[in-house]
Parts: sequence; structure tokens; C-alpha cells
Amino acid sequence: MRAVTRAGEGAKPGRPRVAVSACLAGEPVRYDGTDRAHPAVRGVLARLFELVPVCPEAGAGLGVPRPPVELVGPPHAPRALGVADRALDVTEALRAWSEATAARLEVAGHVLKARSPSCGLARVPIRRTPRAGLRPAGTGLYAAALRRRRRWLPVVEETALETAEGLGAFVEAVLARARLDALLAAPAPEALAAFAARHRWWLAMRSPARAREVEALARRGPAPATLRQLEAAFMRAVLVRRATPTREARLLRRLLALAKPALGPDERRRLAALLAGAEADAAARAELRAALAACFAAHPHPRVAPDDLYLWPDAAMREAARRVAEAG
Ligand code: SF4
Repeated sequence: MRAVTRAGEGAKPGRPRVAVSACLAGEPVRYDGTDRAHPAVRGVLARLFELVPVCPEAGAGLGVPRPPVELVGPPHAPRALGVADRALDVTEALRAWSEATAARLEVAGHVLKARSPSCGLARVPIRRTPRAGLRPAGTGLYAAALRRRRRWLPVVEETALETAEGLGAFVEAVLARARLDALLAAPAPEALAAFAARHRWWLAMRSPARAREVEALARRGPAPATLRQLEAAFMRAVLVRRATPTREARLLRRLLALAKPALGPDERRRLAALLAGAEADAAARAELRAALAACFAAHPHPRVAPDDLYLWPDAAMREAARRVAEAG
């Protein structure tokens, strides 16, 4: 991989593209010429996605090595000033590159280096005045541009990838964003309906209200304003409402109610027993999900699409789950 200074052109079909702070990918682009290679970035993410290394400071022409900078000023409008030489002000160069790159980056997710005055998402050290003490209250200039221009992009710092839960949530969000991008690239009415149906229960696990909203918007057709609303509803559910055991158990209860007419008395009792322990037991949830998938495959239901992503995860989702489990 080579550090990107003009990121984003020419997305290729295939694996979703994920931008990463180049130092996390192992590029020696830090101010002192070192890297911050991160195992989850170079491991699971590199196997699942096409990584796009991005270094705002190198991209803005500050060079490697270079004098280190830090944030100074109010948190909503800081400047990036030299640590040793306060006359060094790289704010405008960094802002211009960051705004242009954030606008054209064609990726389904982004991993940012924590605490960096360019890349850090939150709690970046900042001084109110050049002589004040450092407080963890800033946002890096590139991260702020990304937030402004790409509100519905999954963006995390590398520290969020250090638990299996955090890594799994990010990978899932990237795959969801990539499916949405494919839809938005060719939003025919039938494609919108199929997308909503396929995501019905997967989305309902996170937020039943958002799942209903996405279905209603999909029925309205591909007008640009409707697509923007659909994007917001879908990504809000993906980014804000994680799939917790409690939410999955609640979803399984709803699916079991739909399946009941097709089940014999013994199977009903067995699945009811699994449901009773579902919230606390991942194995019970998996067994119940598999039983419901078999039931709906044998007895199709109008509310369950034949390619429902909760019951029958696609190949990319299955591979992602396997890789995250192996890493954990
Ligand atoms: S944190 Fe960001 S700006 Fe700093 S070296 Fe890494 S990629 Fe470059």
C-alpha cells in the first residue's frame, strides 16, 4: 500500500473500499517518519476490504519528516500550529486538502488515528491559547471535514477496533454502507423494494421504526430527496442502533410469532424454550435463528423475503463474521 495524497478516484467493483489513516496501515508517514501499524487494520480489515491509506498531513504537502503540530484555539474552530515554532501555521493547507478529499473519497468506511490533530475524531489534545494547558476536547481538522461532508459514513478511531464487538460493529456497518451505495448507484423502483424487503428484519433488529421508515420511503420511488431520506433512515439505524443481544432476542420473538402456524407442537415447545434463554445465550440465539430460517425456507411467509439478510446472511457477511470471530 502507498500513502494516498489524491484519494478516492476510480473505485473498483469487488470488495468494499475502506479509507484508513495511512500510519495505521503501516506507512511511515508520521511527523518523525514512523508508523503506527495497527493489527486490526492490517489483519481483518485488510483481508475483508480494499484499504485506501490516507495521510492528510503528507497529502497537504507538509512532508515527511516534518515539524509536529497541535490544535490551538476554540474546539469548534482550532488552528494547527507548530509545537516548537508557533509561527508555523498549517491550518489552511490542511483544511483545503481535507475538504477536497472528504468530498470525493469513494469509500464505505474510514478508520482514523486517535489523538491526531489531523485525524483524531474526538478527545484530541487542544490548547485554548498557545500557552494554556492541553485538554482532551478537540477534533482533528481532517476528521471534522469528514464529519461535515460524509455524515452517514461509518467512521471510527482505531481504538474502537480493539474489541471483537467494536470490530464486528464497524465491519457490519461498512458492508451495510456498501450495499446501500450499490442501491443508490442504480435506484430503480424494483431495486428499492427488494432492498427494503431484504433488510426488513436485519434493520428491525436495530430499530423497528427505522425499518418501517425505510420500507415506506422505498415505496415512494427514486426521487433524489426520497433517496436522501432513505439513506439517513438506513444509516441512522446502522450507526446509532447496534444489534445487541436484547434487540436480537426481541426480533426472534417476532419472527417466532410469524412462524408459529407452520410449526408442530414439539417444535413450538423447543423453540419457545430456546427463546426463553435467548437474551443471555448466544448459542440459543444462533440455534433459534437457524430453526426459523429452515422453517421459513420450507414455509415461505409474505413478510419474510427469500433473501432476508438476518436469516440468510450473504457471503460477505458470513466471511466477515468468521474473520472477526477468528480475530477475537
Ligand atoms: S495520524 Fe493522520 S496525519 Fe498523522 S501520520 Fe497518521 S495519517 Fe498522517
